Formats: sequence, C-alpha cells, structure tokens
Amino acid sequence: MADRIALPEPRDTPYGRLRAAPFHGDAELPREVDVAIIGGGINGVIAAWILAGRGLRVLLCEKAELACEASSRAFGWISELLLDPIKMPLNLESKRLWAQLQAEVGETGYRRNGLAYLAASQDELDFYAGWLDSVKGIGSECTRILTAGETRDRFPDARTAWAGAILAPSDGGTEPQLSTVAVARAARERGAAIVTGCAVRTLDIAGGQVCGIHTERGSVRAAKVLFAGNAWSRLFLGNHGVDIPQLMITMSAGRTQPDLAGPVGCGGVDAWAWRQQVDGGYSLGRLRGQRVPLTRDCIQLFSRFVPLIRAEWANVSVHMGRDARADWRRARRWSAGEISPMERERVLNPIIDRSVSDTSMALNAREFPGMTGTVHEYWSGVLTATPDNMPIASAVAKLPGLYLITGCSYGLTWAPALAGIVADLMTGHTPSLDPHPYRLERFFDGSPLRLTH
Ligand SMILES: Cc1cc2nc3c(=O)[nH]c(=O)nc-3n(C[C@H](O)[C@H](O)[C@H](O)COP(=O)(O)OP(=O)(O)OC[C@H]3O[C@@H](n4cnc5c(N)ncnc54)[C@H](O)[C@@H]3O)c2cc1C
Repeated sequence: MADRIALPEPRDTPYGRLRAAPFHGDAELPREVDVAIIGGGINGVIAAWILAGRGLRVLLCEKAELACEASSRAFGWISELLLDPIKMPLNLESKRLWAQLQAEVGETGYRRNGLAYLAASQDELDFYAGWLDSVKGIGSECTRILTAGETRDRFPDARTAWAGAILAPSDGGTEPQLSTVAVARAARERGAAIVTGCAVRTLDIAGGQVCGIHTERGSVRAAKVLFAGNAWSRLFLGNHGVDIPQLMITMSAGRTQPDLAGPVGCGGVDAWAWRQQVDGGYSLGRLRGQRVPLTRDCIQLFSRFVPLIRAEWANVSVHMGRDARADWRRARRWSAGEISPMERERVLNPIIDRSVSDTSMALNAREFPGMTGTVHEYWSGVLTATPDNMPIASAVAKLPGLYLITGCSYGLTWAPALAGIVADLMTGHTPSLDPHPYRLERFFDGSPLRLTH
C-alpha cells in the first residue's frame, strides 16, 4: 500500500469511548435557519453539505459528538456485492458519489480496492454466478467470477486452494473514523452551522406543519427539518405520533494494528470478513451473527418483521441483556421542557462481542500468514432494519415540513445517494434516483412489500 495514513485512536470522552476524529462544534445556536438537521452521522452531514452548497442556511444538531454512533462504528465496506438487484441503482449512485466526495471534501478514506468473496466449492461459485446473472446490465460491469487460478493470483499467500471467487473491483471501503468529520468540515466551509452536544428534544409544530426544533439549548425556527438520528428515529418520531417500523440490531467488529502484510482490498469467506484500512491494518468482522436486543419494539413490531425474522433466524440471536433493559427503561413520551431520553443516554454503546474480532483474526491469520497480529481495538454499534430491509429516505406525509433518512442496514454505502434524494425533495429538485422505493408511506398505503437482501 503506497499512501498509508494513520487512523485516530479511540478517545475517552464525557460521552464514553468514541472512535471518530475529533470535531469542535460551533458555540452559537442560530435562532432561524432554512433547514435544521437532527443527527450528525454520515447521512446528516452529507445532507448538510449538499444543502449548504445550494445556498440554504443549514443547522445540524448532534446530541453528543459527530459520528458517535453507527457512522464511526461501521465496518467500512462501500459495496454492491451480493445485494438485492433492486438496490443496484442506489449502490451504483452511492459509489459514484463516494468518489466525488473524496475528490471534493478531502480525505474520507474512500478506496476502490475491490471486494472478493472466496468460494470453497463449485456450489458456492455457482451461487455467486447466479447472483451475477441477476444483476446483469444493472450492476457494475467489471464484477466477475474468478477461476481458481485467478483467485490464487489475487491472493498469492492464501493457504487454501480456493475453488474460485467473485470479485467486485469497484467496491471497496471508507474509513468510518474519518469520513463523517471530513464531510462536516466541508459543510461548515459552505456555511453550515454544526452544533454538537446539543440534543433536539422535540419538533416545533404549528397548525400541523413543522416549523422548527426545540433543543436542550433553546429553540430554532426552520422552514424544513430533516431527522437523521438513525437508531433514535422510532422513539423520537413516536413521541410525535409518527410510526417508524424499524428495529435495532447490534453488531461487533474490531481492527488490527497498522501495517500488516495481509490480503489486498476487502473480502469475506463464509462468515468472516476483512477490510484493508488506509493505515495498512485491517478491520475484522463477521458476516453473520448479529444480536437483536429484545426491546419493546420487537414485541410491538413482531408481526411486521416475520418475513425478515424467518429469513435471518439462523444468523441473529435475540438477547434480553443490558441493551434490551436500557430500552425498556426509556421514556416514550416527553415534552420540550423535559430532559429527553437522548440526553439521559447520549450515546448508544451496545455490548461488545469480542469473539467476533477474535475469530475473524484467527481465521484470517490461518489463511493469510501476513495477517498474524493482535486485535488492537474492539467496538460495537447499532444498525437499523425495516420490514423489507430497504432504507427510508422520504418526506413524512403526516407532518409537512419534516423529512427522514433511517432504516439503513448498509447506510455507510448508501448515505451519499440517500442524502442526495432527500436534499432534492427538500429543495424541489428532481432526484437523480427514483425516490419511490424509499418512501415511508410504503409501510402504510397497502403497497406489497418484498423482503430484499
Ligand atoms: C458494526 C457495524 C458495521 C457496519 N458496517 C457497515 C458497512 O460495512 N457498510 C455499510 O454501508 N454500512 C455499515 N454499517 C451501517 C452504517 O454504519 C449505518 O447505516 C450508517 O452509519 C447510518 O448513518 P446515520 O447517519 O443514519 O446514523 P448514525 O451514524 O447513527 O448517526 C445518527 C446521529 O444522530 C444523533 N442523534 C439521534 N437523535 C438525536 C437527537 N434527538 N438530537 C441530536 N442528535 C441526535 C446520534 O447521536 C448520532 O450521532 C455498519 C454498522 C455497524 C453498527
């Protein structure tokens, strides 16, 4: 790897241990803006960057630090491989926009160094070939099946004689510790106000129309509001009578020390995965084995999630541990004058399952001799899933003036395109992607829902 870049070490902060590069928010909370954005993860900051670029007065409020939740805890793949054909336009547009962001905002850590799934048998290779067939003409043209010999050429140090692989050369990754903060700096250069340590308690609603936000530091008038609070969407909007069908899933990951002579790019085999980072180290993860805390929403939403539960039953485990208990204790109703659940619990820090990274490290080291090392950092985060496993990027019909991005199981990849769709909807531009598949109303207007992968 030619251009190695050091990655930040995790920091102990008043909000707990955080991974993202530090960012100092603005001291002043503006009193009136055109757009208020709630949530400083990757979706919120990209929307701020786009909207500020269109000359709007933008405020982004983050309850703790930027990227304190999912966006700094992602594994970091930016990819289309093995995703449902219906997601291909979203994946392709997102990958195009990630390259644009890297060129325009500075170092996000985005690299197109390829993603490969290795196949142990002809059956697995046939499965990959079947997927490739299903995205013919709509996926990246360069994605291809590698023969056993081509697989050996790409991974010359591999100990196993693999039957072959599927390779997406235009897939790759970004650095979750860098990307949100890099985009936020660029949004600020365009004039966006970014205020951290500032929870938004409630929406300001007059005559059925959203007209601002009430934060812990005062109120702000805003013609339009975007909620990009991810794991908090169902709780926050439920307080306003808006039903968001989404569940929380927790996932653990880790990384090695820098500078290991492991496999090129990103990859996975069966259940374990790697991503070569810009510091020459590797992110370590598992493709299956997520945990679902048994929250109140699990029970309330059970019937809507039956297809997803059936499909993923073998891959997830349900837990009644600390993460579930925290949810049962959260208030469901509060007013602008009260301390909100988002202040009582600034950052979601789910239980870390260290076996994920330890197993990935051991399996990687067994396969690639240069991957012998130790797990340098362990972390966990919350993913959100919807009943059809499609994200939501939409206006909220029930509350005119309110927009929403949430339910992103693969949201680091999709953020540029989803933020772009919502920015277009907010400003009356024609979105470059058809927004129809991502609208919130699909869950309520009788549309047939198909579970996607
Ligand atoms: C372990 C793990 C691995 C993953 N791997 C990948 C991957 O390889 N590729 C991929 O594409 N995706 C991956 N994801 C998913 C991806 O990380 C998320 O989909 C994406 O980061 C979501 O971004 P976001 O901006 O919507 O949410 P977040 O990053 O969660 O940001 C939401 C922000 O809103 C703030 N907030 C919430 N409520 C309020 C409020 N009321 N007031 C103020 N602020 C508020 C929160 O503090 C938070 O910072 C992974 C996720 C996890 C946890």
